[in-house]
Amino acid sequence: MVDTKDLKSFGSNAVRVRVSSWAHFSFPSMNIFDSHFHSLIMRKNGDLSPIPASITGIDVSADPFDIKERIEILKGLENVSYSVGSGPWRIADEDFSSPQEEAETLEKIILEYDAHFIGECGLDLFHDYGRINTQKELFEAQIMLSRKLKRPIIIHSRDAAEDTVEILKKNTFSSSGIMHCFSYDKNVMKKPLDKGLYISFSGNVTYRKNEFIREAAIYCPSDRILYETDSPYLSPVPMRGKKNRPEYTEYILSFLSEIRKEDRSALYEKVNENYRRLLSLSEGKGRAD
Ligand SMILES: [Zn+2]
Repeated sequence: MVDTKDLKSFGSNAVRVRVSSWAHFSFPSMNIFDSHFHSLIMRKNGDLSPIPASITGIDVSADPFDIKERIEILKGLENVSYSVGSGPWRIADEDFSSPQEEAETLEKIILEYDAHFIGECGLDLFHDYGRINTQKELFEAQIMLSRKLKRPIIIHSRDAAEDTVEILKKNTFSSSGIMHCFSYDKNVMKKPLDKGLYISFSGNVTYRKNEFIREAAIYCPSDRILYETDSPYLSPVPMRGKKNRPEYTEYILSFLSEIRKEDRSALYEKVNENYRRLLSLSEGKGRAD
């Protein structure tokens, strides 16, 4: 009942995708992997359906203070880990003072809840979130925090490839991290790979115009690849236009396995293995309530 016409007609000469049937998707019983979703934003946007208990992945903060509510929403989901961080959008908030003070606040909250990851944080020149220099300082403050607290970092980068690569170049990532929702070409992917980071692909890899992201997804090494929904945003084809949910990673998994010519369950295993390796680099264990 899912409209596959988008996918069937998808693709250019370089990457042609044929996905003939979605019949094997049975959402309620499957195991879901999602390296990046926002349970609280989903709820605030009116999606009250519970996150499936079988999920493995990372629930990501929208601001430094929402962790308590997120833990409440996801109570009992054993394979969910948490991140706490400040994205560039925080700069526009009234209670934002400076990158240094923000990092001090984050450190306290991360340790209080024993969060596994730091972020998302990074650079965004698509939206008007504030001066690029302040964005860079806030980003670098969290890279330092990632080293200090020994937690992998989750990086957001939109329309800011050059500035992001420049910051990656001059920093080390001893606890590794994830370039989330990777939306650049394969040349930009080289630097985060050099730095030992993981690359997470989202629903926008399925969008018609994003041939360059598909190319990056094909070239991404198997031991560094992850995928995500970024729910409630960026629903993949054929769910584009609907509110996104972690279950829809199934479409992304199928899509990636098609374009990478890699067995679907082998790719699923690989991604889970990558995630577990990354999680093992974190000193955060999540606070038991
Ligand atoms: Zn996000």
